Amino acid sequence: MIQVITPTARNIGALFVNRHCVSSTSLCRGLATLEYNTHDLHDDDSHRNHNTTANQHCAHSLLILGKPGGGKGTISGKILADFPQFRHVSTGDELRQHVRKQTQLGMEAKRFMDEGCLVPDNIMIRMVMGDAVEAIKNGQSLLLDGFPRTMEQAVALDKSLDVDMVINLCIPNETIIERISDRWIHPASGRVYNYSYRPPKVVGKDDETGEPLVQREDDKPENVMKRLQKYEQATAPLVKYYEEKGVIQTFSGTMSDVIYPEVKKWLDNQLAEDAAATV
Ligand code: ADP
Repeated sequence: MIQVITPTARNIGALFVNRHCVSSTSLCRGLATLEYNTHDLHDDDSHRNHNTTANQHCAHSLLILGKPGGGKGTISGKILADFPQFRHVSTGDELRQHVRKQTQLGMEAKRFMDEGCLVPDNIMIRMVMGDAVEAIKNGQSLLLDGFPRTMEQAVALDKSLDVDMVINLCIPNETIIERISDRWIHPASGRVYNYSYRPPKVVGKDDETGEPLVQREDDKPENVMKRLQKYEQATAPLVKYYEEKGVIQTFSGTMSDVIYPEVKKWLDNQLAEDAAATV
């Protein structure tokens, strides 16, 4: 259950020091009333810090928007290497983990994922908000990769925390289709290969086990087209939504290695501006 809190301006009340540097209690609105069931996945996540003491932190929430197969994961990986203060929440990875572990959520989500459809908002909101709330309670900054993808998800997110930076990756459809058709996986381990830049040693076989590689159901060309169409309908409107909030920056191109230095420069500037504003 998500408590509905009237959306407010960025500086909600006296708790905000500035728009980014907030106490974790104020960044995460209405925390006490949020109930999410992610225990079936996280029970064994002993590496995570479960200290939930509310502390004063410069917590940031950064989103990464972009077409399916458009390099969100790659750019996120580079961001995390340079900015380790961010905790990565990737909805695609998390959903696949649920599917592998055959949790109830995973079983519900699988049929939508296999068909190249978006998983329903209520499932996604329940899954992501648990992570987001936990990170913020711990005073961590958050990098949300793959969420929100619909206006309903964006509105739900806004009710719980302030999104302060959004990266919009703009990649041509042809590049994406080419890239995805080259992607094959080893289902048992989740190892991912790409015939253009990370080919297996033997065509069609996993390097470690020699077992056959398969194409993810949602990477099959007919499903990729469906996902791109869904993106246009459901996710593209979010660009305007975040433009109106003045928090989004678009990066266009075809190669992550070329796009990323620009992303880093922008992120460095954003974080430096915040740091300056808090002294
Ligand atoms: P891609 O960006 O290539 O779609 P992801 O790994 O991010 O890959 O997501 C895989 C699938 O998981 C999506 O096709 C969709 O079915 C589901 N999914 C991920 N994030 C969301 C979301 N925020 N809302 C609905 N479905 C989602």
